[in-house]
Amino acid sequence: MSQITLNAPALFNLSGRVAFVTGAGSGIGQRIALGLAQCGADVACLDRRTDGGLAETLDVIAQTGRKAIALAADVTDGAALDDAVARAEADLGPLGIAVNAAGIANANPAEEMGEDQYQTLMDINMKGVFLSCQAEARAMLKHGRGSIINIASMSGVIVNRGLMQVHYNASKAGVIHMSKSMAMEWVDRGIRVNSISPGYTATPMNTRPEMVHQTKEFERQTPMQRMASVDEMVGPAVFLASDASSYCTGVDLLVDGGFCCW
Ligand code: NAP
Repeated sequence: MSQITLNAPALFNLSGRVAFVTGAGSGIGQRIALGLAQCGADVACLDRRTDGGLAETLDVIAQTGRKAIALAADVTDGAALDDAVARAEADLGPLGIAVNAAGIANANPAEEMGEDQYQTLMDINMKGVFLSCQAEARAMLKHGRGSIINIASMSGVIVNRGLMQVHYNASKAGVIHMSKSMAMEWVDRGIRVNSISPGYTATPMNTRPEMVHQTKEFERQTPMQRMASVDEMVGPAVFLASDASSYCTGVDLLVDGGFCCW
């Protein structure tokens, strides 16, 4: 080996970076926002309401010594996202990292699903990710640098046995391919776009009391025999956000306890 110039641990250091996280008031988005701060980033935390978990997100980030701001916007509103990114840059500095975790899930047999249920989910899970990436990239393209991470799902790769959620599965397949498509549009302008596809993860989305039997089934079906904790989404997100993944773009990183192997 010739001269060693690479400081490997420093690859994961996010000091001096500014991150923008949607869905930062709960679950995966909330934990990733904190994880980015723990690695040194200042974080703009967006959710549709500021009166929910966002206050808690800001509190825990404050304990890391990093800066955080709360932004209220609906990811189906492109103009509101443009404004939110502008606020983030004005308060924290040039945007370098974005994690798009806002999303919803629900279920209904395909033959019974109303158009409204289908469209509302698609608007949030797919159009919302597109509009978020668009607003974030408009800022990042000006700086010639950035990493965007979209939270998709293993449901974009497999069909969850027993869950009738055709719209959700289709939305997540859409997020994976949309991420690859945007990765290629911006590949020569300094912006990387990747997705993370979690398996069953213990968040408010699927730990409601009425889901107790379903979560036992999720655990049984998963090769690791358990759901993921939100903590286990942090390492993959920090990796994709940081210089440790400088040659990765258009990747869908499955974080599923082995689910998609079987
Ligand atoms: P969560 O705890 O419900 O968090 C999602 C957050 O996004 C909530 O704070 C939610 O606000 C917010 N949100 C929803 N619609 C929004 C909108 N239109 N504009 C702005 N914010 C909005 O869910 P999670 O489990 O962490 O899920 C995060 C992401 O991971 C989602 O994209 C989900 O599909 C994906 N995922 C989750 C799992 C899992 O097992 N949990 C597995 C694979 C993928 P409200 O509370 O007001 O709705």
